[in-house]
Amino acid sequence: MPRKPNVPCKHPGCPALVQYGRSYCDKHQVMHRGDRDSASKRGYDSRWRKARARFLRVHPLCVKCKEEGKLVKATVVDHIVPHRGDQRLFWDESNFQSLCKRCHDKKTGTKDQHPEYKY
Ligand SMILES: [Zn+2]
Ligand SMILES: [Zn+2]
Repeated sequence: MPRKPNVPCKHPGCPALVQYGRSYCDKHQVMHRGDRDSASKRGYDSRWRKARARFLRVHPLCVKCKEEGKLVKATVVDHIVPHRGDQRLFWDESNFQSLCKRCHDKKTGTKDQHPEYKY
């Protein structure tokens, strides 16, 4: 089977030829590996910021304080069921609740005192 020709490294000005299917030479591969990660991180951040802002517009009051009859402006969107990196849970708005900073800290604080995983 004939080998595909090598292609130039995509890093601007790099003269190295790399195996067909690769983008960068070894040296630049390392440099560019972070690109996609930080880009998707940025995309993720702005998507979350938007989802969060939208949710707070619709649910502007802290649900915990409301249970106690207090009307407190919510500033945090909390996941009712911890998402632990689960994308489906993370973006599921039925799993969101509006909390004020104090209630959110209380919730996360209590959790830390009772770790779910015991070794
Ligand atoms: Zn290169
Ligand atoms: Zn509250």
